Amino acid sequence: MHKIYITSSPDETVELGKKLGSKLRAGDIIAFRGDLGAGKTTMTRGIAIGMGLKDEVSSPTFALVNEYPGRLRLCHFDMYRITGALDLESTGFFDYLDSGCVIAIEWSENIADELPEGAITVEIARTGEETREIKIIGDERFEL
Ligand code: ADP
Ligand code: MG
Repeated sequence: MHKIYITSSPDETVELGKKLGSKLRAGDIIAFRGDLGAGKTTMTRGIAIGMGLKDEVSSPTFALVNEYPGRLRLCHFDMYRITGALDLESTGFFDYLDSGCVIAIEWSENIADELPEGAITVEIARTGEETREIKIIGDERFEL
């Protein structure tokens, strides 16, 4: 399925993230696409809340991956600086794949060839100062 949502504030994007987060299961992969400032980290904050985790999500730009523990663990990657499979390997990404955490990936464009089948794509486009067009491509579970 593929569905488009329009949000008009950061809070609305967090809300959408919450709904998505509440439906996630171990091993799910959220592959974000969208420019700097699109709202990938903001939506990940909502996903964390929806998963029942704390809302203290921050950008993993420097750490490459931030982990948030819980009944369901969230592993939040930033692939901005990743340019190839070798680079990706060094982040430990492939070990995370079968670790049972939910994986959220910012700049998934950079690892498009390495994304496992079944990843849920969330494409965010800035359409105005506070408006975003958010396209979710995944299975029926994500009919929010
Ligand atoms: P990214 O991780 O994609 O670089 P962030 O989530 O860090 O983006 O930042 C998004 C910025 O855009 C924040 O400053 C946020 O307040 C602002 N913003 C404005 N409107 C929205 C919206 N509708 N959804 C998400 N963020 C928004
Ligand atoms: Mg970000």
